[in-house]
Amino acid sequence: MKTELNKLFGDFVSIFFPRECGCCGCVLKRQEKFICVACDFHLPYTNFHEYSDNDTARQLWGKAPVEEACSFLLLQKDSRVEHLIYQIKYNRQPFLAEYFGYQYGLKLLKVQAYQGIDFIVPVPLHSSKFRKRGYNQSAYFGRGLSRAMEIPLREDILIRKKATISQTGKGRLDRYENVNDVFDCQPTVLMANVHILLVDDVLTTGATIVSAALTLLASFDCRISIVTLARA
Ligand SMILES: [Zn+2]
Repeated sequence: MKTELNKLFGDFVSIFFPRECGCCGCVLKRQEKFICVACDFHLPYTNFHEYSDNDTARQLWGKAPVEEACSFLLLQKDSRVEHLIYQIKYNRQPFLAEYFGYQYGLKLLKVQAYQGIDFIVPVPLHSSKFRKRGYNQSAYFGRGLSRAMEIPLREDILIRKKATISQTGKGRLDRYENVNDVFDCQPTVLMANVHILLVDDVLTTGATIVSAALTLLASFDCRISIVTLARA
């Protein structure tokens, strides 16, 4: 009886506040959660976690010594994934990042290369950006991964000193030299011989996550693997 009432109430609420698919904006059916069946079927999943020699890993070669790297989705212009990233970053729907983090975590759990990870560390936002947005979407992605993989999420390790990375007019090499003063590590945190999963929402040039990885490697006796929600 109670579940019937809940269903009725849910239907009543959805008339006035229809839930929308995070990837295409269509109205979700009762049994659909966060994204519609069509989007789930058509999303460009990379399957990068299935092989170490993937495009995300290749992009980081020679820039930061990481163990493994992969991205869940391919981000293309005017696509479902672009809509999704917009909802997550600019339309106050970070729970979509958590949902996809959880889904990816379930996949990574089955991959040998992602076993034995000690902490999940999200790339932090600068405090000014955090205040403006109200949340860090990468932390939500990390939270989903953390729940699925049962690995603690640590938001207290990395600190962001600079809001943006200035890249204009810089050559490719300068770009990476330029990012060294973007992040810092919390001096009170002590770690040794740990494997850290560094996570971010979108991998574009890679400059941000490389900088974060290099900062962690310089501060702790650690190994780093990288996971992003999408890859541009
Ligand atoms: Zn959809």
